[in-house]
Amino acid sequence: MKTIIGLEIHVQLRTESKLFCNCKTNYLKAQTNENTCVVCTAHPGSKPYFINEKAIKNAVKIAAALNCEINEEIIMQRKHYFYPDLPNGFQRTSKPLGVNGTLEGVTIREVHVEEDPGRYDLKTGKTDYNRCGIPLIEIVTEPEIKDSEHAKKFLEELQLILAYLEVSREEPGSSRVDANLSIEGHPRIEVKNINSFKGVYTALEYEERRQKKLIQENTPYGQETRHFDEEKGTTTSMRKKETLEDYRYSPDPDVPPIAIEKNTEIPELPKPKRERMEKQYALTKEDAETITSEKKMADAFEKIAGHSNAKELAKLFKGILKKQLNYRGIKYQEKLTPEIEWIAKNLEQNKITEKSAEAILIEAIDGGKSAENYAKEQNLLGVETNIQGLIEKTIKENPKAVEDYKKGEEKALNYLIGKIMKETKGKADKKTILKTLEEKI
Ligand SMILES: [Zn+2]
Repeated sequence: MKTIIGLEIHVQLRTESKLFCNCKTNYLKAQTNENTCVVCTAHPGSKPYFINEKAIKNAVKIAAALNCEINEEIIMQRKHYFYPDLPNGFQRTSKPLGVNGTLEGVTIREVHVEEDPGRYDLKTGKTDYNRCGIPLIEIVTEPEIKDSEHAKKFLEELQLILAYLEVSREEPGSSRVDANLSIEGHPRIEVKNINSFKGVYTALEYEERRQKKLIQENTPYGQETRHFDEEKGTTTSMRKKETLEDYRYSPDPDVPPIAIEKNTEIPELPKPKRERMEKQYALTKEDAETITSEKKMADAFEKIAGHSNAKELAKLFKGILKKQLNYRGIKYQEKLTPEIEWIAKNLEQNKITEKSAEAILIEAIDGGKSAENYAKEQNLLGVETNIQGLIEKTIKENPKAVEDYKKGEEKALNYLIGKIMKETKGKADKKTILKTLEEKI
């Protein structure tokens, strides 16, 4: 039984203001209905402002990164429907600005821009219009996704591309997906409003199982729209779909067509970057994947690798750096680059141990002390700085062992060396200790 999946992905574009007015977009921090004006709450007679150019620029970048053919102009239409989250009675949505793209072996049918609706609370009957009018991009795929794993891979790569482009919002709820799944020869089921990319995988897994079971049991079912319950990881029926909804699309007379500036600069995207870095620095596929999982991290790696052993550096990034970032659930911060450079250099020259390297990195992340200052303060740097004093102290504190050694007991010397090694937490060089001890006794 062949599975067919198509996705419609809505992502909020990163802009300061809404698509057709100057209201702010920071709706997660704002009081209810704080970010509203006559335009985004559709007061009679109000007209939209000139379209937010930053939103269009961001959308064009996304379309270009998804290998779409970019259209000449952006044409706004009204998509009519009646629901309290939409005071206009229609949503402004553009004709495709990009078509025929591709990602992870899936054709991107189209990319267009539209307004986010407000938020209607079914329980209280109240509506918050802070979100109403925030620019969204909608990415529509052809039904070419093979299974939930493929969908996951597609969305992960998309998420990475969006992060590299720095054009979309990343707060919870800023991406929403409608997923349709059918088993070949059987009705198409649409799951609406999945609020995270992670949820898509769960919803698709569930739907695939559910539909296959119905088919195996010979239970007939029709085309319908279902709702995803994120907590339970299940879907429930919302409405039976008899006919296509009629949105009565019409051109918006308030928004003239706008020419699209096609020349857009996009940075090296994750996939080509992975492939190039793998070759250039002789990295494994996994190392390259980890290092390019964030653009800033990849930039830092390349900056340091210019004068460092790339293989060792990759080990440092994939090992303690990624571990400490994951542990804190944080992203790479540029302030870490000089600290990591210092750590890499001193690790390479055997001046610090791996354990010390981790302690220094933790301090750099949490404490904000420079790697060098912290290492000096904690005596984590090589033996040269403090070994003399430590040996003198050990001799003074262990007169019996010193006497025994003088009498010819080799074991006593090992005892003293052991003590010093322990004090230096294993970072001192044994030969240096032995030499200095012999000189001093
Ligand atoms: Zn407004």
